[in-house]
Amino acid sequence: MSLRARLLAWYDENARDLPWRVGPAARAAGLRADPYRVWLSEVMLQQTTVPHATPYFLKFTARWPTVTDLASAADEDVMAAWAGLGYYARARNLLACARAVANEHGGVFPDTEEGLRSLPGLGPYTAAAVAAIAFDRAANVVDGNVERVMARLFAVEQPLPDAKPELKRLAAALVADDRPGDWAQALMDLGATVCRPKAPLCDRCPVSAHCAAQAAGAPETYPRKIAKAARPHRRGVAYILTRGEAVALVRRPPKGLLGGMLALPTSDWRPEPWSDAEALAAAPAQAPWRSVGVVEHVFTHFSLTLRLLRAEGDAEGVIWSPRRDLDALPSVFLKAARAGLANLL
Ligand code: SF4
Repeated sequence: MSLRARLLAWYDENARDLPWRVGPAARAAGLRADPYRVWLSEVMLQQTTVPHATPYFLKFTARWPTVTDLASAADEDVMAAWAGLGYYARARNLLACARAVANEHGGVFPDTEEGLRSLPGLGPYTAAAVAAIAFDRAANVVDGNVERVMARLFAVEQPLPDAKPELKRLAAALVADDRPGDWAQALMDLGATVCRPKAPLCDRCPVSAHCAAQAAGAPETYPRKIAKAARPHRRGVAYILTRGEAVALVRRPPKGLLGGMLALPTSDWRPEPWSDAEALAAAPAQAPWRSVGVVEHVFTHFSLTLRLLRAEGDAEGVIWSPRRDLDALPSVFLKAARAGLANLL
């Protein structure tokens, strides 16, 4: 059986029941989805999940059952109803599009991908989705889910985002005039429920026999992504020198990381670990230093392991600060001071 036939047969049995959807049986009986509902759902789903979008969809369609109703709504009412979906520019585009359909198209959505693209705020993905789902046009509907399915089916080694045109081409080759709306939704459902991002359910997948990534093993590693440059790692020593209730601090040089801020005295921060002898040599004072742990911290451009040495003693050129004032330290030093002083607090 072909990949298309397998996936469509699976969809016939397993299509998700969604409030904007006309399921495969009803569609086979001649029913078509309402373009307004398909369009509204696609706009809502662009930044959120089906469970989060569904109550909004139901609220919108109860209050504004047609695109003409939505077009004549007050801006502030639509914005208020949208609150919680985020991306408010999208709500404004939604209204602009509804008004264009109502005023320039007699309240009827254009029934081709090109016609839909001409509407304000309606991008290529939404145009393809509405054309396929509402009008059964053989449009290539490719979102992140479909990209993932294509990358796995064909074991595409090129990483994202460079692979996007190739993934789109592969998806286009599977589009046909037979049931294009069901095909688009079948791919969506497969990506959402079976070919999931982290843990694909390959043993339940209707197209596993066609899947190159599954055959090769580790399908979850597709789509490939360009590895982020590893953050360099540095190591240093932080000194917690106490004199009674006071802790020795220093002011960091005005330029550079945490410039001008109060800090614990530290050694340099470098890639290599610090030996005991080096750590003692870099200390701000001769004192009976002892190891009291390590803390890890991640800065934007590097990560840091700080060894903590603590001693009671005196030093010159430091700022003695009451322990209660340590909360004003930058977080890396506050973390180090808290860890180093933990059993003294
Ligand atoms: Fe996705 Fe696995 Fe199916 Fe391949 S076999 S399409 S990886 S769920």
